[in-house]
Amino acid sequence: MNEFSKLGLSTTTVDILNQLGFEKPTQVQNEAIPLLLGNDPCDFIGLAQTGTGKTAAFGLPLVDLIDSDEPFTQALIMSPTRELGQQTAMQLEDFSLNHKNLNVEVVYGGAAIVNQIKALRKPTQIIVATPGRLLDLIKRKSVNLDYVKYVVLDEADEMLNMGFKDAIDQILSHTPGKRATWLFSATMPPEIRKIIKKYMSNPKEVTINREEKSNKDISHKYVMTKTANKLPALRRFLDLQPEMRGVMFCRTRRETQQIAEDLSSLGYNTEALHGELSQQQRDNVMKRFKSKSIQLLIATDVAARGIDVNDLTHVLHHTLPDQLESYTHRSGRTGRAGKKGISLAFINPREGKRITELERKIQVKFEHIEVPGVESIREQRVKNWVAEIVSTNADPTAEEIYKSIVGEFEHLSKSDILKKLIASQIDHLVRSEEESNLNEKVGGSPRQRDKSKFNRYFINVGSVDGMSRAEIIQYVSKISRVDAKFFGELSLQKNCSYFEIDKRYDDDISSRFKNIHLDGRSIRMNREDRSDREPKSKKKFRPERKFHKKDHRKPKRRKR
Ligand code: ADP
Ligand code: MG
Repeated sequence: MNEFSKLGLSTTTVDILNQLGFEKPTQVQNEAIPLLLGNDPCDFIGLAQTGTGKTAAFGLPLVDLIDSDEPFTQALIMSPTRELGQQTAMQLEDFSLNHKNLNVEVVYGGAAIVNQIKALRKPTQIIVATPGRLLDLIKRKSVNLDYVKYVVLDEADEMLNMGFKDAIDQILSHTPGKRATWLFSATMPPEIRKIIKKYMSNPKEVTINREEKSNKDISHKYVMTKTANKLPALRRFLDLQPEMRGVMFCRTRRETQQIAEDLSSLGYNTEALHGELSQQQRDNVMKRFKSKSIQLLIATDVAARGIDVNDLTHVLHHTLPDQLESYTHRSGRTGRAGKKGISLAFINPREGKRITELERKIQVKFEHIEVPGVESIREQRVKNWVAEIVSTNADPTAEEIYKSIVGEFEHLSKSDILKKLIASQIDHLVRSEEESNLNEKVGGSPRQRDKSKFNRYFINVGSVDGMSRAEIIQYVSKISRVDAKFFGELSLQKNCSYFEIDKRYDDDISSRFKNIHLDGRSIRMNREDRSDREPKSKKKFRPERKFHKKDHRKPKRRKR
């Protein structure tokens, strides 16, 4: 029986969950769903780490509580970014598949507002929205929030982080005073307490304790090797530790696919797990992984979220995650249930400084280890090869070929034949093109520059904003009024960037970014101190994508 049926959900909804492969509620779902259904309407606070299934914790009760025969908007879900909003809307659409009249719309900045206005003319019971765009729509009277019964502030900490406090205040003032407010968040900064005090009364609360940040059973290690050598390096670890069982994290779907294919073609039991597989395919991969017919799963962060496997010896990182917080989630998949685990990152020399960042941020110490030398794997690969030969059954084709060639070997003894066979195979087993030493020097950056010439800065604009490196430099250059030629290195990350500016501009460049907005959220730009002091805010940023129409600062795309 599907365990969701015990939580008070309708059978219609449980049926859908069966189809979606949701069999067992997560902890936050287990505790939140009965509360929300049993005390309707009530204010609610749900605190649980990222990836614990908070969307379904509010989405499933909503689908059951909303009257899909009534055409007006009954639930409003606020989401910090376009991506998260779209994900949430998609999940809600899935959950409401059996409610034919229930319509979910998602609105966000950076896309044409007219299409969203048009879409909202249909009866829309649930609106998922980023705050900036929703405010715009309210001002244009394109949404009617008079009958909203439920307001969900999803990823509340993120929304505050991104500067949406005022927008949320304004939006809430347009909703009926008599409404249920549900707040979900991974963390509980003081600003959230203020919101709770101001907008909620006697909220019910579910708090799931965060996994211990520094799990003592996990050892954190890294090797330093060229990007092109990451795969050969991984092979050496796999060869020397055949009992290894783990997940290797990659950043993109294409990467997972490529690596899994490369490793499979070399005879390793690996498979890729990523978001573009169908649910059925994913289930199959997971089944094989659980039954141990797959040794190493190659996965993206998103796809690996649902993985519930306890006895992993290793978590491997082909690339470190864009967001360092994800590192904790990744590595937390090993070292469970009292067993020891290893989290091993494959780092190229340029990524080296991210290890230092990680050490500071999550308070762990990394051990630098060497990629095993070619000598140590030769023996192991030969052993594996021998084992394979011994366990192979000679089939009729082999029998036939044997008869036709046995004469050729007549003058050789068994030991001669074996030695020749080894000699002919050794190049194949330990490929001659494989470099013997795959280790790179720590900090050996390809281009040595005078670091002391630059100050380093942070800005909460990154690749999700659809800007290239050049465009970010152009954007910052324009606002800071510092010519682009005085910029040093720029490290573009998903949600933020770090860049250098010549020290002659030591004065307060950051102050020029005060009150600068990008699509309804405040831009944050600040100098990164070179001392060991951590910048105050450790939160990740997930800015909304793209620019607002009326934002004139959008840099022109350069011709390439
Ligand atoms: P959060 O909001 O807490 O960060 P999400 O709600 O986005 O987490 O859920 C993370 C992932 O886990 C999603 O892909 C979701 O489909 C999946 N998921 C959530 N609950 C379950 C469940 N009970 N069974 C299987 N998968 C689930
Ligand atoms: Mg969420």
